Amino acid sequence: MSQYADLTVNGQALWHDLVTTAAFGGTEKGGVCRLALTDEDQQVRAWFEQTCTALGCTVSYDSMGNQFARRPGTRSDLPPIMMGSHLDTQVTGGRFDGILGVLGGVAVLRTLHDKGISTNHPLEVVNWTNEEGARFTPPMLASGVFGGAFTEEFAGSRADAAGITLRHELERGGFVGAEKCGQHPAAAYFELHIEQGPVLEAEERTIGVVTGVQGMRWYEVSVRGRSAHAGTTPMPMRKDALLAAARMIEQVNAVAQAHAPDGLSTIGIITALPASSNVVPREVRFTVDLRNPSEPVLQAMEEDFLQRMQDCAQANDVQVTVTPTWNSPAVHFDPRCIASVEESTKELGYTMRDIVSGAGHDAVYVSRVVPTAMVFVPCLHGISHNEAESATPEDVTAGSNVLLHAVLKADQVF
Ligand SMILES: [Zn+2]
Repeated sequence: MSQYADLTVNGQALWHDLVTTAAFGGTEKGGVCRLALTDEDQQVRAWFEQTCTALGCTVSYDSMGNQFARRPGTRSDLPPIMMGSHLDTQVTGGRFDGILGVLGGVAVLRTLHDKGISTNHPLEVVNWTNEEGARFTPPMLASGVFGGAFTEEFAGSRADAAGITLRHELERGGFVGAEKCGQHPAAAYFELHIEQGPVLEAEERTIGVVTGVQGMRWYEVSVRGRSAHAGTTPMPMRKDALLAAARMIEQVNAVAQAHAPDGLSTIGIITALPASSNVVPREVRFTVDLRNPSEPVLQAMEEDFLQRMQDCAQANDVQVTVTPTWNSPAVHFDPRCIASVEESTKELGYTMRDIVSGAGHDAVYVSRVVPTAMVFVPCLHGISHNEAESATPEDVTAGSNVLLHAVLKADQVF
């Protein structure tokens, strides 16, 4: 137990901040539409800067417009401990996804400011640019540059649907800092986030101690048979690509079943050609998304999947090609950061479980260069990327309390 065992964030002020920021791009249905670097995003960035400045912080930008609010520590030779997430949203987004991670960090700063507590390390709250990928694809773009996954040139050249580039929008907002993205030193990074899944709520647990992010692999499968007249071609003489694809889809599901309970497999898009109601389809294309928290198991799932596709093609007298289209390796967070989160949760007396994130987050890329962990809190019915996204004041306060104590622990460890 530290000397700050009873320290908690101001939950009312945190909730007030959540309500205030939800107005920037607020929708009629109570959600938020605040795409990266739009006027609404500029407004919330200005709010963030003013709020943190009032708490004694200085705010700076790197060359990707990532926004850092810094509270000095007693030792200026130490790199900062960072908290944060993103303030941009989906087109029909909610008021918690990403925002909570930034405002939870602000709540930590406010507590330390109000109580006059100093830390050894400087503390920073960061707002990562364009996490959602809703305006500029791919997602997690600026944290990706920070973590070395993308070049700054690539990121800056990404254009929205109207052809406007991210670089243009950074300059328009005055968000291009002198510091090159990725050069910002950091001792550790903690990201508070809603779970975006149903597990914590279903198990009635308050805190998810996030140990990592599952690996994901995407493929496009092309099944080729032969088009034929639907009225004149006897059944035994057909090479029906769609019938074969239907059997393959069963097999894709079987891959996940064979690697239960962590293995996941999804077919989200399917196209049949020539797409005529009286022609036997000659070609079917479908996407496959495989996921597992363990990279070796994910590799085994891939091999199982490829074998099943070949076997199924042979049995149905069609040809199949599987093309990998995207790959995000499994992430394992830093054991010291995870321990800081876990011990803080225990000391605060919250119910908890270990959990692997099913979705991507800025922490995925940041963890490549900075020791990282995440804290999850429940959200209503696991719904996210939706205006109906909801979380309780009690849970977001609990998550911020864990963030506060994890940071204070990390201040002693790093
Ligand atoms: Zn998010």
